[in-house]
Amino acid sequence: MYWTVIIVAIIVGFWLLDLIIEMLDSKSMVTELPEKLKGIYDDEKYEKSQAYGSEKTRFGLIQATLSMIIMLLMIFLGGFNWVDQIAIQVTDNDILRGLIFGAILMVGSSLVSLPFSYYNTFVIEEKYGFNKSTLKIFIMDIIKGAILGAIIFALLFSIIIWFFSTDKIPMAWLWAWGAITAIQLLMMYLVPVVLLPIFNKFEELEDCELKDAILAYAKKENFKLGGIFKMDGSKRSSKANAFFTGFGKFKRIVLFDTLIEKHTVNELVLVLAHEMGHFKLKHILKHLIIMILSTGLMFFCFDLLIGNEGLFAAFRMEHISVYASLIFIMVLFEPITFVIGIFTNMMSRKFEYEADAYAAKTCDGGDDLITALKNLTADNLGNLTPHPLKVFLEYSHPTLLQRWESLENAGLLNNTDTA
Ligand SMILES: [Zn+2]
Repeated sequence: MYWTVIIVAIIVGFWLLDLIIEMLDSKSMVTELPEKLKGIYDDEKYEKSQAYGSEKTRFGLIQATLSMIIMLLMIFLGGFNWVDQIAIQVTDNDILRGLIFGAILMVGSSLVSLPFSYYNTFVIEEKYGFNKSTLKIFIMDIIKGAILGAIIFALLFSIIIWFFSTDKIPMAWLWAWGAITAIQLLMMYLVPVVLLPIFNKFEELEDCELKDAILAYAKKENFKLGGIFKMDGSKRSSKANAFFTGFGKFKRIVLFDTLIEKHTVNELVLVLAHEMGHFKLKHILKHLIIMILSTGLMFFCFDLLIGNEGLFAAFRMEHISVYASLIFIMVLFEPITFVIGIFTNMMSRKFEYEADAYAAKTCDGGDDLITALKNLTADNLGNLTPHPLKVFLEYSHPTLLQRWESLENAGLLNNTDTA
């Protein structure tokens, strides 16, 4: 009985927390912007950004509410058991049963989220002028994503089920942790080279002023690069971005074509200097360590709770199995994931300040970084004054104003009213 209470409390509790945060956040939108931020939006655009923000919030809450209701119905009407009975009828093999069980649940949840994804892209993003995707690209993305998702899920899930089902290996959770970590690390190499090109076109940046400037900066900072690439982000959205992929000497810079279009060479160099700062200051490595440790913690909890009869009774299950344990323990693990997330976000925000300072120091001032961030925020209709609680719990980056003031206080801006 108390398992049911715990699980319902987790599901409803997180939904409620989400609701409270979003309500506080909507209330914290101000009609009058802080003095520093005034130049970023004109009145009309500021109104548009607020309308965009509240539409996204409403949409997110509707989706979260529906998910919660479906989850509760699945539990109380014995939906998980019904799916499990199908898997049991098909085969005797535990790994295959697990794959069928997981696959049905995944297809079901994708079918629920599909209309939301469609509405988000073709109604909301379209209305605010961000959407560049077509129905064809949208459908192809779903097909490609489903195939890739199925392969990765089948691989990981069968390895985990195998380790926990066999009684030949002592400390199975340690072995499973090791195996999954090895796959995660391998994926970090494969994602940029194999997976991302399935969705987007990457081409080496042609010789130009921008390329020269990036290479000159990288050389000055002794930063080994495996290439500078341009990605056709404009295929789906007008929103801009840049990122690094890979490790060691395979490190690649990827710039969205939309980012290159909208920024000066100097601004782009500062954005990249910030990203290189994350490498130089070992931020990527620290994030990786946290990820590996939390995976370990999850497998440890999994080991403690696997096949727990109370837990299976709470999910109205007739048959106890390793594969269903894995799914149920993920629900139980949610509060732990949440706490880990808060710490990771805190750490990440600290890293952002450090990378900003690194970029500003190595580029003679961070003015162009602030200009770039202002343009990015304005183009993406970003919320300039989020509620502090939302920032604390969910933001991996400090707000624009915080980053600006941090550089200013460190004396790293040449012009204090960069507006
Ligand atoms: Zn960063």
